[in-house]
This record gives sequence, C-alpha cells and structure tokens, in this order.
Amino acid sequence: MTSYRYFNRWNQKIFKGVKTLSEIEKAIKDFTKALNAFNTVCVKALQKKQEREKGCGYCKTNKSLYFDKQGNNPNLKEVYIEGDGNLSVTPYLCDVTETIQIKLNFCPMCGRDLRGENDG
Ligand SMILES: [Zn+2]
Repeated sequence: MTSYRYFNRWNQKIFKGVKTLSEIEKAIKDFTKALNAFNTVCVKALQKKQEREKGCGYCKTNKSLYFDKQGNNPNLKEVYIEGDGNLSVTPYLCDVTETIQIKLNFCPMCGRDLRGENDG
C-alpha cells in the first residue's frame, strides 16, 4: 500500500460519522495531526533517499571495506567497491594476487543504488 493510500484511508476513518460541529472541529484537528505526521514521514523518506544518493566513502572514493594492513590474514588482502559498482575482493593465493569481482546492486554501507554505474 502506498503511503498516499494509507493516508487516504486514515482520512476517511477520521471523518466517518462526523455530524456535529464539535465532531467536525475534532475531525479537523485529527486530520491536521494526520497530515503533519504524513508530511513528516514524507520529508524523512526524501531526506533518506537524498542521503543514499550522495553515497559514502566506500562507494564514492573506493575506501577499503577490509584491508589486511599487517599481513595477518593468510586468505584475504583487500575488499573495496570499485567506481563501476563491482565489489573487488583480493585474496592471497600462494603469492599470486588475483582479484575477484562481484557485481553489487547497492552499497552495503550506505545503501546507494550502484546499478547502472558506468561513469564512476
Ligand atoms: Zn556507500
């Protein structure tokens, strides 16, 4: 159910059976409250969406999700997100480094949509 439909159902519920002036006044107050709550939800959702679209250091600047700085991990050297939205995993394989690439749909850290990333 879309948030608009939900709001509309709520609106119908508030005004159902309203006849007297005091009932109308109360319904208007309830309606205003509902409208404000709906507005807050919409604004928050848009702000979250905007925040996600900005991205983070992991999906925007190739910041390492994992980097074995000390060389303590015999299996894994580095994990980071490339500009094209691929997750790059670099394991240690008998002194040969071979990068594995996994296509990501969303940034695992901020949730930014990584599909269709070709421009970096
Ligand atoms: Zn991100």
